Amino acid sequence: MKYDYLIVGAGLFGAVFAHEAQKKGKRCLVIDKRSHIGGNVYTEEQDGIQVHKYGAHIFHTSDRAIWDYVNQFAEFNNYINAPVAVYRDELYNLPFNMNTFSKMWNIKTPQEAKDKITEQIESLQLGEPKNLEEQALSLVGRDVYEKLIKGYTEKQWGRDCKDLPSFIIRRLPLRFTYDNNYFNDRYQGIPVGGYTQLVQRLLTGIEVQLNTDYFTFKGADYDRVVFTGQIDEYYQYRFGPLQYRSVRFETERLACDNYQGNAVVNYTEREVPYTRVIEHKHFEFGTQPVTIISREYSMEWEPGVEPYYPVNNEENNQLYEQYRALAAQEDKVLFGGRLGQYRYYDMDQVIAAALAAADAIC
Ligand code: FAD
Ligand code: UDP
Repeated sequence: MKYDYLIVGAGLFGAVFAHEAQKKGKRCLVIDKRSHIGGNVYTEEQDGIQVHKYGAHIFHTSDRAIWDYVNQFAEFNNYINAPVAVYRDELYNLPFNMNTFSKMWNIKTPQEAKDKITEQIESLQLGEPKNLEEQALSLVGRDVYEKLIKGYTEKQWGRDCKDLPSFIIRRLPLRFTYDNNYFNDRYQGIPVGGYTQLVQRLLTGIEVQLNTDYFTFKGADYDRVVFTGQIDEYYQYRFGPLQYRSVRFETERLACDNYQGNAVVNYTEREVPYTRVIEHKHFEFGTQPVTIISREYSMEWEPGVEPYYPVNNEENNQLYEQYRALAAQEDKVLFGGRLGQYRYYDMDQVIAAALAAADAIC
C-alpha cells in the first residue's frame, strides 16, 4: 500500500491535517503510539461522565472560521469556564476581576481596585517587565501576585517566577468588571459527548494504527511525513533535549453527586502539592449520582512520561531554533502541533495551524 502521507500522532493537529488531506484526495495513514486517538484532548466515558484523561479541555476561540469548523464535527454546549482559587482558607474568583479584587481588599468600585494596584506597584519601581514576576506585579500588584500567582506558577512550572517568560501570565484576562469568564474569546464550549467523538469524526474513512511508535514503525510506503511528536526526539536530541512540563493525574470516583461545586478549583498556595482539582461532570452540567475528580500534579518531563507543556523560556527557545533550522531543510517532513513546533498552542490555534499546513502543501 502506498500513502501520500504518514501522519504521526492522532491528536488534533494530525486528525485535522488527515481530514483535510483526505478531502483533497490524498491517501493518509495515521499512527499513534498511544492506544487511542485524540492525543491530549482524549476523553473517556465513565459512569456517564466524560473524563478528560489528560487534563481539562475547554474549547474557546475568537476565530469564527475555526468555530464553524469544529461545529461540523460536534455540537458544543454553553459551558463557560469560571475557575475558583483556594488560597489557605480564602476563596477567590478567577480570572483576576472585580470579584477577586473586592474579596481581596474589601472594595467595590473599579477605581478603588485600580488605586489599590497602583499603590502596590508604585513602590516597586518596575520598568518594562522582563519576566513573569515583573509582569504579574505590574498588572495586579503584590497581594494578588503573592496569593494567587506565585505559588501556583512555581508549582506548575517548577521554576521561579523570575525565570519564566511574561507571556504565560498574559494568557489570563485581567478586567475591572464583575465577570468570572476565564476567557475573553467570542466562542466557548465543550463538545457534547466528548472530544474523542469529535476526533473520531475527523478521522472517518482514514486508516489509523494505534500502539505504533514512529521510531520503530516499518512496513508502509509513503511519500511524506507529518510529525506531531517531539521535534528534539525526532532528531535524536542532537543539540540536547528541550524541556517540557508533565502532569500526573490522580483520578478518583466519589460516591457523592457534587464534590466541589465547580469544574475547576485551583490551589494557589505552594504547600498544597497539586495545582488544581477538576470535577469532570460540571463540564457537561452532569446530574449523575456519583462524581469523578482529578488532582493535577505538575512535574518535570523526563523520558518515559508524557510531555505536556513546552517550557518556552529563552534557553529552550534558542535550542528549538536549532531544531527548527534542521526542520526547514526537510522537504518530505512537516512538523506540527504543540510538540512538533514547541509552542504553547491552544486547541483552536492547533486547528488553525493544521488547516493552514494542509492548505499549503496538499
Ligand atoms: P497532542 O494532542 O499531544 O498529539 C500528539 C500525538 O502524537 C499524541 O497522541 C502522541 O501520542 C503522538 N505521538 C508522539 N510521538 C509519537 C511517536 N513517536 N509515534 C507515534 N505517535 C506519537 N487547549 C485549549 O484550547 N483549551 C484548554 O482548556 C486546554 N487545556 C489543556 C490542559 C492541559 C493539561 C494540556 C496539557 C493542554 C491543554 N490545552 C488546551 C492544549 C491542547 O491540549 C493542545 O493544543 C492540543 O491537544 C495539541 O494537539 P497536538 O495534536 O499538537 O498534540
Ligand atoms: N496562573 C496562576 N494562578 C492560577 C491560574 C493560572 O498564576 O490560579 C498562571 C500560571 O502561571 C499558569 C498561567 O497563569 O501557567 C496560565 O494559566 P492557564 O490556566 O492558561 O494554564 P493552562 O490551562 O495552560 O494549564
